[in-house]
Amino acid sequence: MKYIGAHVSAAGGVENAPLNARAIGATAFALFTKNQRQWKAKPLTEASIRKFKANCADAGYTPDQILPHDSYLINLGHPEPAGLEKSRTAFIDEMQRCQQLGLKYLNFHPGSHLNKISQTDCLARIAESINLALAETRGVTAVIENTAGQGSNLGHRFEHLAAIIDGVDDQTRVGVCLDTCHTFSAGYDLVTPEGYEATLARFDAVVGFAFLRGMHLNDDKKSMGSRIDRHASLGEGTLGLAAFRMIMTDARFDRIPLILETPDDSRWAAEIQMLKEMQK
Ligand SMILES: [Zn+2]
Ligand SMILES: [Zn+2]
Repeated sequence: MKYIGAHVSAAGGVENAPLNARAIGATAFALFTKNQRQWKAKPLTEASIRKFKANCADAGYTPDQILPHDSYLINLGHPEPAGLEKSRTAFIDEMQRCQQLGLKYLNFHPGSHLNKISQTDCLARIAESINLALAETRGVTAVIENTAGQGSNLGHRFEHLAAIIDGVDDQTRVGVCLDTCHTFSAGYDLVTPEGYEATLARFDAVVGFAFLRGMHLNDDKKSMGSRIDRHASLGEGTLGLAAFRMIMTDARFDRIPLILETPDDSRWAAEIQMLKEMQK
């Protein structure tokens, strides 16, 4: 059983996200619970929370099928005290919003060292940021997304994800989301059947499938190992449809949200339908 959807708009209120997901035939969805380009947001209203839960229930979405994403501004491994503090405060707010909405995951990019601290220090800061957020919330799992490794972003090696998890006190509330575009751009093959199996075997050995809480399904405009993050519509990038067919027939990706972040939202309904058909 696969949960398949897209990162839909929450414009006009979080309660609209499940409606937008239903309209494209999604059985999973991602959303921002606040404007992702701003630090501060008004608290969620009781009415908005109530409508979100009602709309999810009506459309048959349980928290297992929903993978909220945090703001792009947040850097939980920030090298400087002010930036770190601001990021940690914003992240705790995002975790609390998820808790209010009855959600169980929050997906985020690990962080960047900005060439000012070592990778090891940065990874330790990220783990400590997660510890602080878990202490302030209940029931929400921090889901670390692997990255393409652009600039000074960490999280492009499976070892980075493992090091962060290692530093988290409550490992029942930390998980991982694999983005197919980021994985491939980071240098892990997902195209050839042998490469696909080797990459996932490596992921299992270093991180462990037990920590996998979601996937982002994106084709890649750049080449394997490019370390550049440019999503393409399915079948229009360097991954190609065969990679997604392998994923859709792989039971290791059952019962977690599989989320499209492909650039052309007018194609999401067709992409979801195609992915559903690939399972057969
Ligand atoms: Zn992301
Ligand atoms: Zn992603």
